[in-house]
Amino acid sequence: MARLDTQQKLEILADAAKYDASCASSGSSRRDSRGGKGMGSTEGMGICHAYAPDGRCISLLKILLTNSCIFDCHYCINRKSSNVRRARFTAQEVVQLTLNFYKRNYIEGLFLSSGIIGSSNYTMEQLVEVARSLREDHDFRGYIHLKTIPDADPELVRQAGLHADRVSINVELPTRSGLRKLAPEKDDKRIEGAMKDMKSSIVDARDARRKYRSAPRFAPGGQSTQMIVGADDANDGAIVTRARTLYDRFGLRRVYYSAFSPIPEPSAVLPLTRPPLMREHRLYQSDWLMRFYGFTPKEVVATTDDKGMLPLDIDPKLAFALKFREQFPVDVNRATREQLLRVPGLGTKAVGRILASRRFRSLRLDDIARLTVSLKKVRPFIVTADWRPTLLTDRANLKALLMPAPAQLDLFAPPPANAA
Ligand code: SF4
Repeated sequence: MARLDTQQKLEILADAAKYDASCASSGSSRRDSRGGKGMGSTEGMGICHAYAPDGRCISLLKILLTNSCIFDCHYCINRKSSNVRRARFTAQEVVQLTLNFYKRNYIEGLFLSSGIIGSSNYTMEQLVEVARSLREDHDFRGYIHLKTIPDADPELVRQAGLHADRVSINVELPTRSGLRKLAPEKDDKRIEGAMKDMKSSIVDARDARRKYRSAPRFAPGGQSTQMIVGADDANDGAIVTRARTLYDRFGLRRVYYSAFSPIPEPSAVLPLTRPPLMREHRLYQSDWLMRFYGFTPKEVVATTDDKGMLPLDIDPKLAFALKFREQFPVDVNRATREQLLRVPGLGTKAVGRILASRRFRSLRLDDIARLTVSLKKVRPFIVTADWRPTLLTDRANLKALLMPAPAQLDLFAPPPANAA
């Protein structure tokens, strides 16, 4: 490997990390260095929490320890057979970079992953050493998200949780057959075994902290995972069902969906084009419906087409309401919380406000208008004291009426990813 300076390594290893979507820092309780102890508070002045328009967190230093790897996962730009420039940081170099970036207020924490060098255990040791040194040698109290390696010794994976706010173990692909085909060196049983162990450690640590305040923190932001969408032939129905199973079995905080992007010099078994980014977006919306709106995977799957794909032109909640019109309209003055949560255009906050205010008076259409960004979308599905949609709910062209207006194409916009 040619000798590279830190700047060159950073260019290579930050670029190599961009394919990982699971870096959002939501769901963790923040460590606090106000009061003069330690460093790395994310609550102080001048620290900005920036997110890209697609929701990805951009205020973390997001890098790989190395982009060299002994594995050969077909979808990965860092695979052994890929002809990319390789670089490697030492654990201490990552520690210094994180501290320097932090002191300059560029970042609020670190997201660290790695290709596998030497062995899974050796790589995991290096990842843990970065987090340990930041916490113990430098009293760093910023956010740390560590990617863990399922093949590594469970004790090493557990140590990651002692220092990191969040840990993640990627399932990589939605189906076992996809994993066998595209990442033959990975084993779904080992991945799930590592997630199960992590869940037990998180639950044990939480119980211990309830009893003893001095008990050590353990991955307070929980664990997450990532699935690559569009690299294999798994449809949206299969992805949604798999995600729900992972949430239920391993107590995950988040499942991230990452639309497969064609990589330079791709393997012949990969598709030539990327799936539409809208597909990723619809999967996130479905995920949201299951986690916060009480939808079952079966209900989400019911909105898919005959190929098991979610509609791209409308969101899954609207697709559900259009498909099951017999469940609408619902009377906002009488309906249960569960029924209200299924109304397109009503979010969880709006439903909470409806439930609170209808105890004092009957709600009218104007009241609902104040709670939604699109009354047009809500109206066909509700009844209020002064509004009843009569035949609107059953109109054959209701979908067309509710579709977002087509946007004028921008002559100077970059071409779509699949353009010839
Ligand atoms: S193990 Fe990770 S870094 Fe290595 S090829 Fe597979 S996905 Fe890429």
